[in-house]
Amino acid sequence: HLVLGIESSCDETGVALVRVQGEGVPQLLAHALHTQVAMHADYGGVVPELASRDHIRRVVPLTKEVLAQAGQALEAIDLVAFTRGPGLAGALLVGAGMACALGAALDKPVLGVHHLEGHLLSPFLSADPPEFPFIALLVSGGHTQLMRVDGVGRYELLGETIDDAAGEAFDKSAKLLGLGYPGGPALARLAEFGDATAYKLPRPLLHSGNLDFSFAGLKTAVLTQARRLEGAACEQPRADLAASTQAAIVEVLVKKSLKALQATGLRRLVVAGGVGANARLREELNAACAARGVRVHYPELHLCTDNGAMIALAAAMRVQAGAAQPSQNYAFDVKPRWPLHELAVAA
Ligand code: ATP
Ligand code: MG
Ligand code: FE
Repeated sequence: HLVLGIESSCDETGVALVRVQGEGVPQLLAHALHTQVAMHADYGGVVPELASRDHIRRVVPLTKEVLAQAGQALEAIDLVAFTRGPGLAGALLVGAGMACALGAALDKPVLGVHHLEGHLLSPFLSADPPEFPFIALLVSGGHTQLMRVDGVGRYELLGETIDDAAGEAFDKSAKLLGLGYPGGPALARLAEFGDATAYKLPRPLLHSGNLDFSFAGLKTAVLTQARRLEGAACEQPRADLAASTQAAIVEVLVKKSLKALQATGLRRLVVAGGVGANARLREELNAACAARGVRVHYPELHLCTDNGAMIALAAAMRVQAGAAQPSQNYAFDVKPRWPLHELAVAA
């Protein structure tokens, strides 16, 4: 059984093919990605109209590339999955349109997938896949959530950010440090040369007693410090500020994850989303979890940010779990706003 997955919710066009055999974890056969990062960099953020147009240019060539890589014919596809939301409406429509056109042409069913469910399940494609139940720390460009996950489609929201997402905190701080867009990885690189204790930055909601997050205040504190550095002759303070910012974000993410584990008594943590690629976050989580006998699972580094593999995987796992019914209704719609916990177990 072959599932093609198409991701186009934001600024990455991703296509992938997975194979499903019985109840086993689906296997990734091939995937291809085109990132629009360079195109949007000049604007300091994603320009929705440009994003949609670029998805249109890329989606057919990427699909051909994936099939060639996997040595499969178009006709071998049994199910076409696409990201139905959340994301940019125009961008989502490109993937949905492509998927439904393909489905209609091949006379095969289609399935719209929740982007965050894709992120959440992406560690199942790693060499060390998790087992249910687990706590999920979902840290992406638009979301920061802690969830209890008991199975496919069985998600209980435990806490989330009340303002900026963790990835947004990285990106906005990076911008204040003059690091361009998206700044997360650049800030992490600069932080390697800095002293994480040099600046005292706030850890908002660290002791709030619940599992919510807040990063807007941190951004304001970074702004104040960054202003003082303007025109500084030496690079070291910038690296120190980058390291201190990263340390503040990471400390909150680690402490709240531990709290969620403690509150539920679960002994397994899954990290997903772009910020899950952050080396300092991984180091600290690994150390903290090892000390408590908790297993931690991550997606492969290249599958932390948006990709088609996680969309094909989520569709395959939903079907395996009987949590979704692929359909031959090609009148697609997209859901730009779509909370994950609204995702019904039986669609
Ligand atoms: P969402 O999934 O919430 O809709 P998104 O798809 O834009 O948002 P992702 O693709 O999961 O988010 O992740 C992108 C985010 O991850 C960006 O904010 C980026 O800066 C951040 N990021 C990527 N790599 C790193 C890293 N090494 N350190 C810190 N942040 C990182
Ligand atoms: Mg992106
Ligand atoms: Fe994403």
